[in-house]
Amino acid sequence: MTAVTSTEILIVGAGVIGLTTAVHLADRGRKVLVIDQGAPARQASWAGAGMLPPGYVTQAFSPEARLRSLSCQLWPQLNQRLRDLGCDDNEYHQCGSVLLFEDTAAAVESVRQWTADGAEAELLDERDLRQSLPQINDCWSVAVRLPQQAQVRNPRHLKALLQACSKLGVTVRQDLCCPALPCSENLHAIAVNGQRIEFSRMLISSGAWSGDLLAGLDCSLPVHPVRGQIAQLQGPPGLLSTIIECERRYLVPRRDGRILIGSTEEHAGFSVATTDAGIAGLRQFAADLVPGLADLPLVNQWAGLRPGSPDELPAIGLLPGSRNIFVAVGHFRSGLQMSPGTGAVAAALLCDEAPAIDLGGLEPERFLQLQTDVSEL
Ligand SMILES: Cc1cc2nc3c(=O)[nH]c(=O)nc-3n(C[C@H](O)[C@H](O)[C@H](O)COP(=O)(O)OP(=O)(O)OC[C@H]3O[C@@H](n4cnc5c(N)ncnc54)[C@H](O)[C@@H]3O)c2cc1C
Repeated sequence: MTAVTSTEILIVGAGVIGLTTAVHLADRGRKVLVIDQGAPARQASWAGAGMLPPGYVTQAFSPEARLRSLSCQLWPQLNQRLRDLGCDDNEYHQCGSVLLFEDTAAAVESVRQWTADGAEAELLDERDLRQSLPQINDCWSVAVRLPQQAQVRNPRHLKALLQACSKLGVTVRQDLCCPALPCSENLHAIAVNGQRIEFSRMLISSGAWSGDLLAGLDCSLPVHPVRGQIAQLQGPPGLLSTIIECERRYLVPRRDGRILIGSTEEHAGFSVATTDAGIAGLRQFAADLVPGLADLPLVNQWAGLRPGSPDELPAIGLLPGSRNIFVAVGHFRSGLQMSPGTGAVAAALLCDEAPAIDLGGLEPERFLQLQTDVSEL
């Protein structure tokens, strides 16, 4: 006889998006089951660097800025909730960041953009830069400082979220791979590993695999894997105290002296292997920014799969053509920073409540339009 499990809300994917949403739902008293095709919390969310840029809801006008700002506002609350529940420390803290630029005009424009979003941003000339970051290579002379930038230590945050789920009665089950969804506007059960899982509502938060999961539907979403490699050095604690970013690569110092160098951006299918060339390129980048890092030992290296989307923004909302399947996918490079906001709005949608921000520009439908446009060419 087939085993049957019933839940109110089924979440497919135990990454930061699925688990944060589960915490919000459990706090509303909902019965939640989270399934993962492998071990929970071990994919992109575990692998990321945990940089959390600033923003202010009242001044955020783009869809990206609205979700980032809401998340920025919710990070301290989520962190407090995890602490109140007695979860392990996730090392969330405000460490600031310095963004390096090759020319002053680009730096001035960056200050303008951050300030327009309501964040504090300060232009640093050569003297300011040397004063705030004496370790930096002499060739850099212009930068922007974001004092409100924060960070979280991914593996520890994911562990804390799993602990919170357990304490709040959320069931998280591993090695249950949700099959490709059939075309149905009212789907209330799936069969996984000979088990039947019944639910009222479902949230798809399956990261880079979401495109494949939804591929059989008329409303498939173009979410694809983008590999990012990270090299981790061991330095003395305090060698760097702030995040340093240069275009799309960065250095993130942890409290125990470890320094993350990130990251590559590669289309390599679902492979999470690191490559000699990728890690060597990251080490060279680090040495170009801070020469003192060249001799530090490499203690770890890994890769993760970002859930890429055509406009680099997530899709959050009801799956087009469905009445009870929601998606929160495609967060690309911003899933950690946007996770508290995404969890809050996804939980609100699943509970028929109004989301805290306007989700215009993040609707899943925008990709359907794109696919239609492409096929008409
Ligand atoms: C190197 C790197 C650096 C990054 N740095 C940052 C950063 O500094 N700041 C930031 O905000 N973001 C960063 N990101 C991006 C961020 O990590 C992702 O956007 C985020 O983790 C996506 O979360 P997710 O929950 O959607 O996906 P994931 O964490 O990948 O979780 C999805 C889960 O779904 C499961 N799953 C998939 N298919 C199925 C199925 N059919 N059935 C059941 N389960 C399934 C998977 O096993 C997985 O556990 C980085 C990413 C990488 C790779």
